[in-house]
Amino acid sequence: MLVYSIPMRNRFRGITVREGVLLEGSAGWGEFCAFLDYSDEECAPWLACALEAAEQGWPAPVRSEIPVNCTVPVVSPERAHEIVARSGCSTAKVKVADPGTPPADDLARVEAVRDALGQSGAIRVDANMAWDVDTAVAAIRELDRAARGLEYVEQPCPSIEELAAVRRRVDVRIAADESIRRAEDPLKVAVAGAADVAVIKVAPLGGVRRALAVAEACGLPCVVSSAVETSVGMAAGLALAAALPELDFACGLGTLPLLTGDVTTDSLVPVNGHLPVPTHAPNPDRFTDFAADPSTTTRWLTRLDRVREVARASGRGRP
Ligand SMILES: [Mg+2]
Repeated sequence: MLVYSIPMRNRFRGITVREGVLLEGSAGWGEFCAFLDYSDEECAPWLACALEAAEQGWPAPVRSEIPVNCTVPVVSPERAHEIVARSGCSTAKVKVADPGTPPADDLARVEAVRDALGQSGAIRVDANMAWDVDTAVAAIRELDRAARGLEYVEQPCPSIEELAAVRRRVDVRIAADESIRRAEDPLKVAVAGAADVAVIKVAPLGGVRRALAVAEACGLPCVVSSAVETSVGMAAGLALAAALPELDFACGLGTLPLLTGDVTTDSLVPVNGHLPVPTHAPNPDRFTDFAADPSTTTRWLTRLDRVREVARASGRGRP
């Protein structure tokens, strides 16, 4: 077991360093990197995902490469244009509704992204639950105009009921992200008519096989996104995207550049907006560049032991 610690290029979810454990089993490497604010119970599916990769491997893929989006943070229109033009991606995800940023800035950023992509590209925006229903309806209409067509709006409001209310009032697809954190959530979202698209992440759903079952049960088109893993964990997300029967949208798996480095030479950094589908996670042959200090290592190994206990008690820790 290897514990890594990699500084991030920018603050993300309030963290500046990404940490986790790499586990080796008979099938290869897996990654356990649940965010530190997750309880041991919430971490059990993350462990199952890591153990699936390490001990079992993944179901056969139905495609060999995955289109991914580039991400445009809250930056100036000039910078947004540059990020999109350099990315090689034909889909851009634009962060909007950041507290303290005027709505006019969001419109200007989205216009710049459309200029950089051309009309054939796809623009999605992510509000990270920032709006109430009326604000969302008004903002989505304006953003859709500025973008000359939005692909979808990710999580405009916090609750499933609010998503459903917004969805009834706008002509743009709604995607659920934060509303989907556990295996049962996508079903609730679908039953409530709250979204047109489900954003799914392989680790919180307990691995590739469980996530595939959840995707099938919810019946919504799915976008696979990362939890900002190293290439070891990212490979599991790619295995999920590769095994989904339908993949209608670019995935949010192009996040390796958010980290200042990677634990492997074969880093899963997108080229021309695409990532290859690996058969197994790459070997962490550059682990020593990012080995955690002794106290961080102890903290993670202790956490892993606790999560193993919780998982064993609930029968949820095995792939
Ligand atoms: Mg999101």
